[in-house]
Amino acid sequence: MVALYHKVQRVETLQEMAEKETKAFKKRAGIDCLCHCSDCCRYEQIEATPLEFMPLAWHAYKLDLLEDWLEALEKHDSPACFFARFENGRWGCKIYHLRGMICRLFGFSGLTDKNGKVKFAVCHSLKEKSPNTVEKAKEYVEKGGKMPLLCNFYRRLTAIDFVLANQYLPINQAIKKALEMVYFHFCYKR
Ligand code: SF4
Ligand code: SF4
Repeated sequence: MVALYHKVQRVETLQEMAEKETKAFKKRAGIDCLCHCSDCCRYEQIEATPLEFMPLAWHAYKLDLLEDWLEALEKHDSPACFFARFENGRWGCKIYHLRGMICRLFGFSGLTDKNGKVKFAVCHSLKEKSPNTVEKAKEYVEKGGKMPLLCNFYRRLTAIDFVLANQYLPINQAIKKALEMVYFHFCYKR
């Protein structure tokens, strides 16, 4: 149990770091999400790794929600993230503070090309609906402005658990796998 909890803690620390860097980047580059958007939570092709949802799974077990969520995920037949919720005319995330690494970096992180040049990987929604802001943020990056790099955070996840950090799955499958791993972990402990 200690080993798994230790991994959960390390992932949480890394995710907090990603969040901090993303927030700082948004502030410096003058860019932010569209109001109550969550389009990315409903993209069909969004992928994640089980490792980044281990903290969520751990807390789900502690709060006695894990089995209910596993059951509900079995019946969830949409590519939209299981935790994306539309309430009172707004989209949002039901587990915001426990969301995965991709959720914290998507839309506001950089990719590197083969020459190591950083490119701003902005989301489609911002590109379409806020092109001027995106252009200014791109200029900031092109002038050498600091931004979180997706590959750095995923590399650090790999150092925590090579196997679970390298399984890129559709997001609902990644969440399900994390829940199952924590479920079986505690089953064997009983
Ligand atoms: S990253 Fe882009 S798609 Fe996702 S919530 Fe923000 S603005 Fe919307
Ligand atoms: S976990 Fe939350 S933030 Fe991440 S994709 Fe799902 S709804 Fe969106």
